Amino acid sequence: MTPDDLAHLIAGLHGLADDHPDLATMRAIFEQAERFSRDVLEPAGKLADAQGARIEDGRVKLPPGQRVSWAGYIEGGWAEISAPEEFGGQGLPLTVAAGAQMLFDASDVALGMLALNQRCAIRLLRNVASPEQQALWIPRLVSCEWAATICISEPDAGSDVGRIRTRAVPGPEGSWRLTGQKCWISYGDHDLSPNVLHLILARTPDAAPGTRGLTLFLLPDTRADGTRNGIEVMRIEEKMGLHASPTCVLAFEDAEAEALCPEGRGMASMFEMIVGMRLGVGGQGSALANRAAEVAWTYAASRAQGGRPDSPPVLIHQHADVRRLLLEARLSAVGATLLTLQAAAWAQAGDWGDTQAAARAAVMLPVVKTFAAEAAFDAANHAMQVLGAAGYTREWPVERIMRDSRVFSIFEGTTAIQALDLTLRQLLGAGAQAAQDVLACLGTAPEVRARLASVLEQVRQTPRQAQEQAALPLLRLFGLACVDGLLRRAATTKAGAALLTWHEAGLSAKLEALAAATAWTDTAALYAAIA
Ligand SMILES: Cc1cc2nc3c(=O)[nH]c(=O)nc-3n(C[C@H](O)[C@H](O)[C@H](O)COP(=O)(O)OP(=O)(O)OC[C@H]3O[C@@H](n4cnc5c(N)ncnc54)[C@H](O)[C@@H]3O)c2cc1C
Repeated sequence: MTPDDLAHLIAGLHGLADDHPDLATMRAIFEQAERFSRDVLEPAGKLADAQGARIEDGRVKLPPGQRVSWAGYIEGGWAEISAPEEFGGQGLPLTVAAGAQMLFDASDVALGMLALNQRCAIRLLRNVASPEQQALWIPRLVSCEWAATICISEPDAGSDVGRIRTRAVPGPEGSWRLTGQKCWISYGDHDLSPNVLHLILARTPDAAPGTRGLTLFLLPDTRADGTRNGIEVMRIEEKMGLHASPTCVLAFEDAEAEALCPEGRGMASMFEMIVGMRLGVGGQGSALANRAAEVAWTYAASRAQGGRPDSPPVLIHQHADVRRLLLEARLSAVGATLLTLQAAAWAQAGDWGDTQAAARAAVMLPVVKTFAAEAAFDAANHAMQVLGAAGYTREWPVERIMRDSRVFSIFEGTTAIQALDLTLRQLLGAGAQAAQDVLACLGTAPEVRARLASVLEQVRQTPRQAQEQAALPLLRLFGLACVDGLLRRAATTKAGAALLTWHEAGLSAKLEALAAATAWTDTAALYAAIA
């Protein structure tokens, strides 16, 4: 995606503020971001993926190139781009920050995990912390003097967050002491910052079971006097992708922390961060989908194979199947990008007090996260097919995109969890009106809205078990309806119009297949028959 394309896509979104940066300003920002991404992040990211992170003397050592990349990121002012001005940020809207981050993630999504933690922690603290806590922590995160993590997962609490066991007991002068284990923590420890602030969920004494008993704490890994808090890095995971992003298992023993919310309000508070994280995964997926599509388009325009044996071979983009692969990859990449940026626009309006926009963003988040995650992996798969054997080698970036993107459907809530959230809480629950509002604002075609409405009505009449089974096809159906409206809004350019035509060519078949997939089948009986 070029800086110009990105600026145009944002300019066409619904609900931008009157003082949103104009096309020329956005283009200039994105051109600068693209230069940094190409010249610094791309070579360093490739090397860092090969080297990986490691543990030395009980602490995480990042691949050396990441230090240079992170320094350049800070120096370029990218960390502070959307942070509030009163804390030293530039106060630019989330749309612009998300667009720039997509350009960075396209080159080094592993380092993007650190940037995402940082931005979401600032958002969380701004929305839930006390003024004193904000004044102490936010400027240091904005300047990247310190780093942050999101610390939810535990061995027995993955999707089932309510089973968190980490215990918090009161300490002196209103402080708390935390003991327990957290796992899968991205950048849970590293050598880019002298202090890592863990935003961590734990259970207070006599708390209710489930998520209602959780409280959110801020736990620095270095105390105010410079000594190390009660934290041990037990190991980092050997992963399929994101090799340069250390995924840590952390043990906490009587570690000093302070509460960020009243007891039992942890989950609601953490949701402020989760909004940013899901938008962030949308951006990561969009970035890698666009990158995969671009690599495939460039390759297909130079690789010659096939044609009459008595003539020179033809370029492979002349073959119908290669064109199908290229169009599908581009369509899903642009769809994911539009969904993510639109949700960012509404989330931003929500932060500035527009409650309707906030409700629309809440409906879109599970769709953004899932659609973009799948777009990245599918586009990488399509790109690998276009590149043939070359795509299967480390010489080309496609295999790395495939490895890095697979996790997008797993972390920040798996696809199944997103689908249940959208279907039960939004489409069939309190968000039903906001969902209608989304499609009306986007200008989704009437026949698509009608098909979705009839499927929803059918699912509404079925028992809960059948609704759960219908959740994923319903999410995909709703996502397709959102993309339909967004593509219509973006069809003013030649490329946009061509993608809309390709979308329309497959639309009715996709709608019918998804509608059919929402029908109830008794999987329990089938499973029992083979188990
Ligand atoms: C690279 C990486 C980085 C991560 N970074 C962080 C981080 O920084 N901080 C953090 O806190 N966590 C992090 N995680 C953890 C991540 O959020 C969890 O892996 C994720 O929430 C899923 O939990 P799980 O792996 O235990 O899977 P499980 O919850 O065990 O799920 C396994 C399968 O069962 C399904 N399933 C589970 N429950 C239900 C249900 N109720 N209904 C339907 N299906 C269900 C799931 O969809 C999935 O298919 C990271 C993970 C990875 C791989």
